[in-house]
Amino acid sequence: MRRTAGPARGTEPRSPVRADESAEDRFRREFGRPPAGAWAAPGRINLIGEHTDYNDGFVLPMALPQRITVTAAPRDDDTLRLVSRQADARAELAIGDLEPGGVTGWAAYPAGVVWALRQRGHRVRGLDLLVDGDVPLGAGLSSSAALECATALALADLYDVSLAGVELAELARYAENEFAGMPCGVMDQAAAVLCRAGHALLLDTRSMATTQVPFDPAAEGLALLVIDTRAPHRLVDGAYAARRRGCERAAAVLGVAALRDIGNEDLDTALAVLSEPELRARVRHVVTENERVERFVELLRAGRLGEAGPVLTASHVSLRDDYEVTCPELDAAVEAALAAGALGARMTGGGFGGCVIALVPEERVERCAAEVRQAFDRSGFAGPAAFAATPSDGARRVW
Ligand code: ADP
Ligand code: MG
Repeated sequence: MRRTAGPARGTEPRSPVRADESAEDRFRREFGRPPAGAWAAPGRINLIGEHTDYNDGFVLPMALPQRITVTAAPRDDDTLRLVSRQADARAELAIGDLEPGGVTGWAAYPAGVVWALRQRGHRVRGLDLLVDGDVPLGAGLSSSAALECATALALADLYDVSLAGVELAELARYAENEFAGMPCGVMDQAAAVLCRAGHALLLDTRSMATTQVPFDPAAEGLALLVIDTRAPHRLVDGAYAARRRGCERAAAVLGVAALRDIGNEDLDTALAVLSEPELRARVRHVVTENERVERFVELLRAGRLGEAGPVLTASHVSLRDDYEVTCPELDAAVEAALAAGALGARMTGGGFGGCVIALVPEERVERCAAEVRQAFDRSGFAGPAAFAATPSDGARRVW
């Protein structure tokens, strides 16, 4: 049976907004009882390693200070009642009715986690859930993974499911892929769960081996500026699927399991085998991007972050020219940031909108943000948002 997250069964008028109300009070007002706890998971940016995760390659995300917190209580029936402070529609769903594609809107993410746990044979039952957070929605900072991972952690705790770390991330990804129908790679959920404050997370998406790499831009007088272009996402789903298919096709022609198996030293040979110029460009991006992750990590480990700017910019150029997933706003933000003194800048996330990151000397952060705003103004783009981000902790229980 299909049900939406709209006010179908939840026909109650939306609760009046009371900005200063605590999450606990709001929970009581919504559900008429106290919550059992609160769990939070962060948004993320990917420092480098873009469109490598579905090629079994390397990524280097870090968690943002912005997070999604879910306040929750278990139920002794099979009903899900879901409310978000950032969404209008309240959802009430019967767990037995959950099926992939059957829930639309934001409720598909938490409902998908419940479905995924049940699919994997875990005994979870109903839940009252209040969502609150400051990860911008749909900006490429992975609010969806934060929502899934916070929900998964809450359910694991409340229903005694022993699920943590990579397994928890993979379950959340399974929910997003299969239930919400978004074919994302595992980076977003892995970052939301595994990142640590003061570190970037080097993730080998083939083996799922992780390494915490100390990352402290402030120690070198630098800041990581995140610029949300607020560009409307265009063509995202179709283009993403097309890139994935292209990579799979190229890997098949080259006789490897995934493009990760082509090293930089094999690149020329590989390119000579491929006849389609477009496919050659896609492969060149993936192979050189994996190499750039390695280079960036080497510089981080050597305490030479100040020299890593060109590696970031080279990643952007590759994503723009070879992978063709940027858009005018992303390119303009990178250009303006570099012109304002950023050491390097690149789009982060899937592309076609979303965010740019720029490595900027601390004293130039304000100027950099201002110049990006002016460049957007000149081009007639909507005003971007900018903030400096520090590497923060992954998902955890709040109380
Ligand atoms: P991103 O993950 O980059 O933010 P997505 O399109 O993958 O972009 O996910 C955004 C979606 O996640 C939102 O449209 C909404 O459905 C859901 N979501 C994220 N945060 C919240 C929230 N605080 N409340 C309700 N839904 C949310
Ligand atoms: Mg997402």
